[in-house]
Amino acid sequence: MPIKTWELDPNFKNEIMGEAGGERLASCFQCSTCTLGCPITEIVPSYNPRKIIQMSLLGMRKEVLSNPDLWVCLICQTCTARCPQDVRIADVLSAIRRIAEREEEAGNLKIDSPRPLFDKAFQHQLEKYGRLYDIGLAKEYYPKKEGSFIKGMKAMMKDYKDFGMRMFKKGKMGPKAMLAPKVKGRAVIKKIFKEMGEE
Ligand code: SF4
Ligand code: SF4
Repeated sequence: MPIKTWELDPNFKNEIMGEAGGERLASCFQCSTCTLGCPITEIVPSYNPRKIIQMSLLGMRKEVLSNPDLWVCLICQTCTARCPQDVRIADVLSAIRRIAEREEEAGNLKIDSPRPLFDKAFQHQLEKYGRLYDIGLAKEYYPKKEGSFIKGMKAMMKDYKDFGMRMFKKGKMGPKAMLAPKVKGRAVIKKIFKEMGEE
């Protein structure tokens, strides 16, 4: 990718380091250990966390924030455990994603990934039920992703026909999964979410 020097934002690294989790960005010395151990690179060959870090340090703000690969990290923390510079890459990526979400909210960017919708739906289930409720997650996520309830339900049926059946066969899904979970101390969880929101 050619670098357009006149478009570089030298303040971008400071912007990331000013976010919670982004503080260690500038410690990266580009050894590539993170990318070599990342399980996602086998599934998404274009994904390269070292490169995202490098582009961020160079100030390629526009390219980094609009990169769909920013959203494929699983936050498995393998890279964080192996990084010799303690960069905490998963946290740095989360910090960059928050900047991208704010830019989208401000109308400056369109995120090319359904991941933020999924993450929000996931959080809402935890907040509401105290743990993940798959049906609630699917009911919130698919219509938002597809733009309408009908289209969302069709997309959900298509996906569930495949991985839903596989989960069912492995005992990870069944009649019990249809019922909303009842977790003790839900008020505490709600309070945690409320305080996180206030922060
Ligand atoms: S492992 Fe750490 S130091 Fe090495 S490239 Fe990745 S983030 Fe940079
Ligand atoms: S936390 Fe993300 S970038 Fe790091 S190894 Fe896991 S999937 Fe890859």
